[in-house]
Amino acid sequence: MTDRKEEIAANLARVEERIAAACAAAGRARDEVTLIVVTKTFPASDVRILSELGVRHVAENRDQDAAPKAAACSDLPLSWHFVGQLQTNKVRSVVGYADVVHSVDRAKLVNVLSKEAVRAGREVGCLIQVALDAGASGRGERGGVAPEGVAELADLVAGSEGLRLDGLMTVAPLTGEYAGRERAAFERLMDLSTDLRRNHPAANMVSAGMSADLEQAVAAGATHVRVGSAVLGVRPRLG
Ligand SMILES: *Cc1c(COP(=O)(O)O)cnc(C)c1O
Repeated sequence: MTDRKEEIAANLARVEERIAAACAAAGRARDEVTLIVVTKTFPASDVRILSELGVRHVAENRDQDAAPKAAACSDLPLSWHFVGQLQTNKVRSVVGYADVVHSVDRAKLVNVLSKEAVRAGREVGCLIQVALDAGASGRGERGGVAPEGVAELADLVAGSEGLRLDGLMTVAPLTGEYAGRERAAFERLMDLSTDLRRNHPAANMVSAGMSADLEQAVAAGATHVRVGSAVLGVRPRLG
């Protein structure tokens, strides 16, 4: 093994142990939680290593970086998740490789995603990104829609050709009532998921938890954790 592969394998094993321990502590089966490795800012060679080590889900947050990386790794058995704020002029490109978009947060974006998915002949999974720190604007600093806006947006996704409503996503807020209260934030997301599934029973994905707070997310009931730095190391640049 190369040094880099050994490093990633060791990190991956530690993250796997953390997920397994969190599942055990919560009385959940390990296979209820899917690890998505966030590969933003890291090269395609790292994505290839992850695939060799058995990772099946990777995530990116900027189309400029993700599109060439996904193209360079198109021979690998990977699902690509898009987790960043998404501008409508990037949707055509993102729909070309993303299996799931975690950052669906406004009607305009839903409409463009639908149009481009139909055009590409693809079905794109959509998670509504919830901003638990949304202010009066109804939107979060890092994207997302306020809890009050989830149901309407979910109905729009569910009724849009080319799109599949998969569930909800959040990033633990740094400010507002949930600052420093990751567990409470993720429990709020779970309550919103319960509400959502009354009308959309198949939309059962709950994407929450990152390197620093994956245990709290698993404890609350997350089905997908998005882990970057704990697997790949400190990011070479901001991303
Ligand atoms: C970067 C990022 C992650 C991973 O963060 P780490 O702290 O490196 O694990 C998860 N989710 C989103 C939306 C991200 O942008």
